[in-house]
Amino acid sequence: TCGICVEKCPFDAIEIINLPQELENDPSHRYGENAFSLYGLPVPEEGQVTGILGPNGIGKTTAVRVLAGELVPNLGQHEEPPDWDDVLDEFRGTELQDYIAAVRDGDVSVARKPQYVDEIPGQFDGNTRQLLDRTDERGELDYLVERMEIGPVMDQNIDNLSGGELQRVAIAACLARDADFYFLDEITPYLDIGQRMTVARLIRELAEEGDRSMLVVEHDLAILDLLADTLHVAYGSPGAYGVVTDPKSVRNGINEYLSGYLENENMRIRPNPIEFEEHAPRPVSTADTLVEYPDISKSYGEGEFSLDVEGGEIRRNEVLGIVGPNGIGKSTFAKLLAGSLEPDEGNLDFALDIAYKPQYIDIDQPMRVDAFLSSITDQFGSSYWNTEIAEPLQLERIMEQNLTDLSGGERQRVAIAATLSESADLYLLDEPSAHLDVEQRVQATSAIRRYAEQQNATVLVIDHDMYMMDLLADRLMVFDGEPAEHGHAGQPQEMRAGMNEFLSNLEITFRRDERVGRPRINKPDSQLDRQQKKDGEYYYSV
Ligand code: ADP
Ligand code: ADP
Repeated sequence: TCGICVEKCPFDAIEIINLPQELENDPSHRYGENAFSLYGLPVPEEGQVTGILGPNGIGKTTAVRVLAGELVPNLGQHEEPPDWDDVLDEFRGTELQDYIAAVRDGDVSVARKPQYVDEIPGQFDGNTRQLLDRTDERGELDYLVERMEIGPVMDQNIDNLSGGELQRVAIAACLARDADFYFLDEITPYLDIGQRMTVARLIRELAEEGDRSMLVVEHDLAILDLLADTLHVAYGSPGAYGVVTDPKSVRNGINEYLSGYLENENMRIRPNPIEFEEHAPRPVSTADTLVEYPDISKSYGEGEFSLDVEGGEIRRNEVLGIVGPNGIGKSTFAKLLAGSLEPDEGNLDFALDIAYKPQYIDIDQPMRVDAFLSSITDQFGSSYWNTEIAEPLQLERIMEQNLTDLSGGERQRVAIAATLSESADLYLLDEPSAHLDVEQRVQATSAIRRYAEQQNATVLVIDHDMYMMDLLADRLMVFDGEPAEHGHAGQPQEMRAGMNEFLSNLEITFRRDERVGRPRINKPDSQLDRQQKKDGEYYYSV
């Protein structure tokens, strides 16, 4: 190890990771001798949305407990912990002074949206209406329910909600509160792009009312970019120490994060930059056909959801991205291909072995991760498997844990590993980005791509994170229609045509950041937005 990480360097880049200067100062909080230390704190600002960008396990929750007044930061003096007056002295003259003074005086009220919404049913008995009524402190509940389209599930038991519904209910419950400080730990898992943008707008609206501060942790960079006014990058060694930088402009913060180098901090956080294709990737013309499928239709019954799929081909060795709103039939299509559902019309009798990772992961056997994975592949533990699967998915340090004890992000990584470890003709991954932090998304993306190339595998990926889709997919399949009623799936097409079709359905255009070429969502009705819509170029520049 390089001396700062407690385990193997996550970036295989020991020589170029320099020791952060912050570590020479006292931390804001240290849990004990040789325990996790947090350096710096995010600065909530009234009337603003402050973003935090960084991996899990880096101290975000610790920081929020301090800002919520639940934890007096010990400034590294865990043997003789200071009180709030000492802490205030320490922060005098900094941007946090007024905020800490208010915390000391008990003047800060806090509303929170937890990271793992899947845990809510275990903590609450009752229906959606009962949950939301308890949090309706501003009298704005009806508005939130309407904007987030929660109406249809108001009388449903919380136990029966899907992950996407739970996410919207949890966000509405947080935003309905009357607080000075709102903390939302991830807003996008299980939501489609339209829903992500609606939530981002609602958070901004609440901030713009004036004196409330919003703090948001988010790993979907396109949404974070749209949502935040300022950004703290968090870095370090998960479980060992975390550094929260001073606030940066959102544009610079994301650009520096992608480039792998934080300028003010003179800190390299990743050996290589993450780069996007400004122009549509070149067509892959040489690939063989893995399977051709005919027109398919499927209905769940009279008056129930129905899906029509245009016949098309899936190519050997490609990563085919699948995009479209929630409730439009993407999982239904996956199940048809996997043979777990029979089509009403169209014969899908092509005897393909399909490995499928569903959106909502259900791996709850009382079994250790290593035992579970070795039951799937006899490659388990081989140097190939370790390099291609275990390392990029950061499985080493959870191998000995029980499946039942895993967090959402850990469960996701195990499920992706399990699916890719199966021997199959076609790998189907439904929302692999959910609950992965931004660094894990980057690593998972390259693991999936490399796996497709090296194993001659064909991978279908359903996801709503546009950055991940851009980095991952060779071609796109676009679903549209009326969610929960009728869905239509077009043929797989080249990235440019696919992005244009998908984004024109959503009426969203992207521009390119001048410095690093990353895509940024245009303000609706801005000059660029109107021009690009006129030209029919929603994503890639010409
Ligand atoms: P994040 O929210 O970024 O995932 P946390 O703030 O929850 O990170 O945790 C950061 C680190 O601090 C973790 O390694 C966690 O195990 C450790 N930690 C959290 N609470 C305590 C505690 N009360 N005592 C000791 N270590 C803790
Ligand atoms: P997506 O994956 O695009 O979110 P799905 O294929 O999961 O969409 O679902 C499409 C629609 O079909 C949704 O309205 C869903 O509630 C409905 N649906 C899914 N499974 C069934 C089923 N077994 N019976 C009746 N309706 C279903």
